[in-house]
Amino acid sequence: MRIVRVALPVPMPQLFDYTSQDVSEEDIGRCVRVPFGKGEKSGLIVALPTAADVDAERLKPVRHIQREVSALPADWLELVGFTARYYHAPLGEVVALALPPGLRRADAVADREHDPLLAPGAEGRAALAGGARPSRALGLLRQLAGEGGGLRRSAIRALEGGAAVGDLLRRGWLVEVRGDASRPGGVLPPLTNEQAAALDAFAAVPAGFVPWLLQGVTGSGKTEVYLRLAQRELAAGRQVLMLVPEIALTPQLEARVAARFPSAEVVSLHSALAEGARSRGFVRALEGHANIVLGTRLAVFAPLPRLGLILVDEEHDASYKQQEGVRYSARDLAVWRARQRGVPVVLGSATPSLESWQHARNGRYRHLVLARRAVATTLPAVRCVDTRRLKLDEGLSPALQAAIAERVARGEQSLVFLNRRGYAPVLSCPACGWVSTCPHCSANLVVHLADRRLRCHHCGCDGPIPHACPSCGNQDIQPFGRGTQRIEARLAELFPDARVLRVDRDSARTRPQWEALLAAIDAGEADILVGTQMMAKGHDFPKLTLVGVVGADASLHAADFRAPERLFQQLMQVGGRAGRAQLPGQVLIQTEYPEHPLYQCLARHDFDAFAALALEERRRAGFPPHTHQAMLRADAPALDDAVAFLRQAARLAVERAPAGLQVYDPVPMRLTRLARRERAQLLVEAGERNLLQAFLGEWVAALRAQRTARDLRWNLDVDPLDV
Ligand code: ADP
Ligand code: ZN
Ligand code: ZN
Repeated sequence: MRIVRVALPVPMPQLFDYTSQDVSEEDIGRCVRVPFGKGEKSGLIVALPTAADVDAERLKPVRHIQREVSALPADWLELVGFTARYYHAPLGEVVALALPPGLRRADAVADREHDPLLAPGAEGRAALAGGARPSRALGLLRQLAGEGGGLRRSAIRALEGGAAVGDLLRRGWLVEVRGDASRPGGVLPPLTNEQAAALDAFAAVPAGFVPWLLQGVTGSGKTEVYLRLAQRELAAGRQVLMLVPEIALTPQLEARVAARFPSAEVVSLHSALAEGARSRGFVRALEGHANIVLGTRLAVFAPLPRLGLILVDEEHDASYKQQEGVRYSARDLAVWRARQRGVPVVLGSATPSLESWQHARNGRYRHLVLARRAVATTLPAVRCVDTRRLKLDEGLSPALQAAIAERVARGEQSLVFLNRRGYAPVLSCPACGWVSTCPHCSANLVVHLADRRLRCHHCGCDGPIPHACPSCGNQDIQPFGRGTQRIEARLAELFPDARVLRVDRDSARTRPQWEALLAAIDAGEADILVGTQMMAKGHDFPKLTLVGVVGADASLHAADFRAPERLFQQLMQVGGRAGRAQLPGQVLIQTEYPEHPLYQCLARHDFDAFAALALEERRRAGFPPHTHQAMLRADAPALDDAVAFLRQAARLAVERAPAGLQVYDPVPMRLTRLARRERAQLLVEAGERNLLQAFLGEWVAALRAQRTARDLRWNLDVDPLDV
């Protein structure tokens, strides 16, 4: 009888002990079903301790250990363990997140779709040459001996006596025929000089953990670099993990990887997959069969016994950060994992996160730059349209309308890009440019219309909404971003002969819808596109030659200090959509701040200058990456309960706060009410990551020991993106 320690998906940090008559060290890392309360739960065996935490007499036996699948390896357990520690989440919840649900429930994993090519292996040939007793299996093997290239498993099963195929596989008489996974399909393009230089630089560095930042303008051929790097790993028999922000938005990439490596097993892992497919892909990776795992953030947890390289495409993308449950950053975990496994990791982007860019600048990451487009097209011309003295027609300037009219006349496409992401209701005065800033911080005050207050989301100070501009007395002050919803309708009126198509989360909810939209645009079935940030993501539109940007200024003055960084990234990406084929592109940005450095840098396509400026601002204001933050959020049916909990949390924090740790006041969240719950948050901040981590450990333990109001929920967000 041994004690079995299990991580279960419950919101409690502890592990749970059970017993088993029949368990060995080899079962560590296996899924298990156990009795829990009145029911049953499934979890993961993480240890076989010699002594239990509670009286061993009272332990219950486990019900079922899933042994059809290999155990998760020690390095995988370390990865989920690190995730739990760093994000201060219960290990069982991290395991539940990292494992496909079907696997965790210890369901059988059907491998129906996997239909390998089989041929006699060395042992099979030996059996044929003599020595094996006559049997049904040998009879079947003999039939197959003549098939030079091997046969699919399904085809063998259909043969006479084909039922013995499982037996042949178990004996090792039949083995999977694998082509050379690294053999590329099609003719490879000759590399550009920059691509070649990047690959040479990569090859010149000894094996082991090396973080790289691959900074390349849109169209510079970063993907080609990824594919060449992957090819080397595949040739060496290693596995490649490739993370992408949103797989549904990048069907082209998936197709490109599959076309490049026709003999490789490419597994996709993302949350939109059916459960069976996700479990299957995970197991293919775990057993070392998958050559390439291509997936969204959760794929960072794919077990990869022969891992050789991690690629993170569009590393700046916010969707790498999970915003609910365990709030992990797949990008950051990818770097941790590369270090743990001693392999290189390549973070790629046209517009890196300021965090990564800073590391590349100060030498912690190696920096590879692709400054030119691979195919000879120029970058689009970026110009600001000064809207200060203009009367806009539902948000559209005469210059933008004229530019669209030209495209319509020439049969080219235009995109009107609405910046809603950065939209935060900050108060501003259109007459003098005054913006509601916090008297105590460099943050902007946010308009809370529900209770007509202006609040600082950084320090918590608040006040009434003024009736007139404090600077010039203008009474027509208003939150940014008004009127964008009507643009589409107005465009249809202004251009009655043009086909106007809206592209956003509503019109492209599912992947088939999105692909249908893309196909319609490619086929030239739309003249004017109206889109949000979805349009910025990696798809080329050959006929698109104009991008008009509306509402960008909202991000200059948003409460979220990351808003300008996101705006720059988005505009550079969406601008990169214009003129990718033979036609030159143009970007028109409507703004009341044409002199703003952000737009100036953008017009010069100078990300580095922007990044240097933005980092300097962050340093002066004491924002990340110069400081490290964690956000405690609470929600309850009544705002008072949420705030009371956070006040108590702030007291507990202040009692424990080491020197150098800053505890702010609780504030209601920007979107205070969501799904009939009121939400508030509390920020803590430190100059040192280790200091913050040590504090968080103690603080979270103290918070867990608190009695809370009924129906109150709280969570901790380490390295939050939305502050
Ligand atoms: P990025 O990922 O940097 O935006 P891609 O890898 O998608 O760029 O490349 C942009 C375009 O240039 C693609 O159509 C790609 O096929 C093409 N391309 C990339 N590298 C080369 C090359 N060395 N020679 C010719 N075309 C290339
Ligand atoms: Zn403030
Ligand atoms: Zn004013």
